[in-house]
Amino acid sequence: MIDYHVHTMFSGDASVPPEDQLAAASEKGIEEICFTDHVDFDNPGQNFAPADLSLRHELLEKYGGQYRKIGGSTVRFKEGAEISFAVFPECLEKTLAYLAPHELDFIIGSVHSVGFQDVYYPVYHEGKTKAESYLPYLDTILQCLPDYGFISVLGHYDFVAKYAPYEDRSMRLDISPEIRDRFEAIFKTVVRMGKGIEINTAAWRDAPHWGLDLLKLYRVCGGEFVTFASDAHRSSAVGNRLDEAVELALAAGIPYYATFEKMKPTFFKIGK
Ligand SMILES: [Zn+2]
Ligand SMILES: [Zn+2]
Repeated sequence: MIDYHVHTMFSGDASVPPEDQLAAASEKGIEEICFTDHVDFDNPGQNFAPADLSLRHELLEKYGGQYRKIGGSTVRFKEGAEISFAVFPECLEKTLAYLAPHELDFIIGSVHSVGFQDVYYPVYHEGKTKAESYLPYLDTILQCLPDYGFISVLGHYDFVAKYAPYEDRSMRLDISPEIRDRFEAIFKTVVRMGKGIEINTAAWRDAPHWGLDLLKLYRVCGGEFVTFASDAHRSSAVGNRLDEAVELALAAGIPYYATFEKMKPTFFKIGK
């Protein structure tokens, strides 16, 4: 079991020390985690301060890449970041300049905003049908993806569904033919770029999991690997529902999951 999407107090929206995340992973028997604190330059002017990656590295250096809580298992850890895609060219430049001095293991590329609107906030969905709300989010992914060749995987393709107000807010291909088209184009672009996607369990929140149809399409488009991601902002969420993510990947016929070191992937067969 690996968890390649873990936030700490170095993210603007989390307050948990990295040691607490490691302790939680050790208690839960997770073999490897990757810290992916936010480096968000997607809104000219107003963003959380980006993660202080140097300070985080200093704090973690003493552990030599692994941690074990008394009574727990050994957990290896990697140092990464979650960056925000942006349609504004100056934001991409800021992201690149910010990352340049750091030697990271892994980078998630995610969309959090459509234009100037953060889809986290309910106002984004106001007056829109589910299809009208979700399609521009996917369009933003598709528009940005080719400019972000330095990422390792595409983050949470269903983040727009996470806080959506619809009775059934699940992300599915059959929401509309346009939604299906965009997913196909996104997955084909990911594969052409030699990247992967993550299965992010956080968007499900208190709902039953979804995503088998999406993952099957990813496979049809040539997708060969995923990473597993709890997107934990608290210790209690580390490793959350990753067993379900593994089952989904297996059911979709995706052959591999990946871990990363200094941006280089290593692939492991999913299941036996
Ligand atoms: Zn995110
Ligand atoms: Zn995240």
